[in-house]
Amino acid sequence: MDIAIVGAGISGSNVLKSLITHPNFQADDLIDVYEPRQSLGSGLPYEPTDDESIMLNTSSDVLSVDENNELDFTEWLESHFKEPTNFEQLVSRPHYGKYLVERFSPFYTHEQVHHVQNTVVDVEVLDAATKEPADDTQDGNFVYRIKTEDGWQDSVYDAVFFSVGHPEYNDFYDLKGTENYIHNPYPMKEKLANFDNNQKISVVGSGATGVDLMRFFMSNYELEQPLTFYDLKEPFYCVAIPYEKDDFTYHLTKNWVEEQKEVHGGFIPLQVILDTIKDDLKQENAKLW
Ligand SMILES: Cc1cc2nc3c(=O)[nH]c(=O)nc-3n(C[C@H](O)[C@H](O)[C@H](O)COP(=O)(O)OP(=O)(O)OC[C@H]3O[C@@H](n4cnc5c(N)ncnc54)[C@H](O)[C@@H]3O)c2cc1C
Repeated sequence: MDIAIVGAGISGSNVLKSLITHPNFQADDLIDVYEPRQSLGSGLPYEPTDDESIMLNTSSDVLSVDENNELDFTEWLESHFKEPTNFEQLVSRPHYGKYLVERFSPFYTHEQVHHVQNTVVDVEVLDAATKEPADDTQDGNFVYRIKTEDGWQDSVYDAVFFSVGHPEYNDFYDLKGTENYIHNPYPMKEKLANFDNNQKISVVGSGATGVDLMRFFMSNYELEQPLTFYDLKEPFYCVAIPYEKDDFTYHLTKNWVEEQKEVHGGFIPLQVILDTIKDDLKQENAKLW
């Protein structure tokens, strides 16, 4: 099979790892990974070369990518850094990025994997038999063609996985293109490198990115003017992320996966997974689009 993965953050990397380690992966299968970044495995939030002052909001104990060792990241940190945490007992996000790049590198350097360093801008669905564009109502087998910023690619894929991550910030106040307005501050080391200490800086919003900005400016500048945050609601509000919630309807546990694998002879049909997620969300009165 010829497969494309779009995006090489944690999601894309886990798709890649799952495909390569799958018992059905064949010696003639080929995987193209489309990713404009040079670093493969880290994604936008954990860019390994970004400023070390931007911190994880999660404990290292829950961030292992090794399913056989849940403390893999914590142990990696301890073996790579004398002081793995900062004064707040938090771990730097670029450190996590370095860990991800290292752990996923055997998959990206696999001989059946090829990195296309470009952004995907379109995908066309083709009829597998004729290789002509398929129409919406058609049943049958489909294949996919990808367009990057360089144009349509020659390869035709049997499957395309999208793992493109966090959507871009909304431009609520139509500020894009305005002088001295920075729409996306990441990577901070690059985008926020050229301020003067006597400049007056304001930040719209004080969520997680606002906290990153505060840490960055406190670590890299000695601002003479206050750094001002504009917020509509509670300042520095942090979304609570409970790891477990007893009364939350959530069927996709490890036990459920094992049970379903037995029921379906090794593989759980995608439709069963989708229906289960939809039923859980419905149960919780979540709106589905
Ligand atoms: C600033 C920030 C900080 C965060 N901090 C934390 C944290 O501390 N703890 C935590 O648990 N979670 C955090 N998160 C949540 C984070 O989104 C997830 O933990 C996880 O990294 C998402 O991985 P992903 O692979 O889905 O997306 P991403 O890591 O965003 O990867 C998507 C990849 O797709 C690529 N891509 C996008 N569009 C295209 C395209 N058209 N063509 C080709 N490639 C494309 C991008 O370049 C990127 O490398 C943070 C998120 C952000 C945005």
